[in-house]
Amino acid sequence: VAMDVVEFVSQQIDNFFPMQEGEEIKISVQGVKKEADTDPDILKHILTNLVGNALKYSEEGSSNPEVKIKFGEGDNWVLEVKDYGIGIPIEEQNKLFSAFYRASNVGDIQGTGLGLMIVKELVKMHRGSLTFKSSVGEGTTFWVQLPLKSPKRDLDH
Ligand code: ATP
Ligand code: MG
Repeated sequence: VAMDVVEFVSQQIDNFFPMQEGEEIKISVQGVKKEADTDPDILKHILTNLVGNALKYSEEGSSNPEVKIKFGEGDNWVLEVKDYGIGIPIEEQNKLFSAFYRASNVGDIQGTGLGLMIVKELVKMHRGSLTFKSSVGEGTTFWVQLPLKSPKRDLDH
C-alpha cells in the first residue's frame, strides 16, 4: 500500500527519539513528494537503527543529526541520515556490515555490532541499496535508496 513516507518518517522519529528542549532532528524534503509502498515495519527498523546510531555516535555539543528525504526522476526514493559525530576510521569501513563489528574509536559507547548488518539485509530484501560516507572527526552519512513500488512478493514469504 502506498503511503506518505515523509509523514511516516517524521512520526517515527518523534516517537522513538524524544529530544530535549532546543534539540531536534531536522527533517527536510527534496524534490516533488511522492507516495511509496515501502513496508512500514522495515522502514521503522531502518530508521531506528540509522538514527539511533547517528545520535549514539555523536559527541555532546556537536550538531544534531539531519534526515533528508529525496524524490527524483527515477523509480526510487532516498532516505539520507547525516550526523556530525565521531565517524568511522577509513581502514575499518569495509567491516561495517559484518556481524559484531564495532569500530576502534567507540570508546565506552555501548552496542552489539548487529544493527547495520540487519539494516543492510532489510534494504536488500526490499530491493534497495545502502551506501555511506564517513570520516573521523567530521561525521557519517548513510543513504538508503528504496523503490517507490515495492516488490511485495519478495517480502511475503
Ligand atoms: P547495535 O547492534 O546495538 O546497533 P552497534 O551500534 O555497535 O550496536 P551497528 O549499528 O551495526 O552496531 O554499527 C557497527 C559499528 O559501526 C558501531 O559499533 C560503530 O563503531 C560504527 N558506526 C555505526 N554507525 C555509526 C555512526 N553513525 N557514526 C560513527 N560510527 C558508527
Ligand atoms: Mg547500531
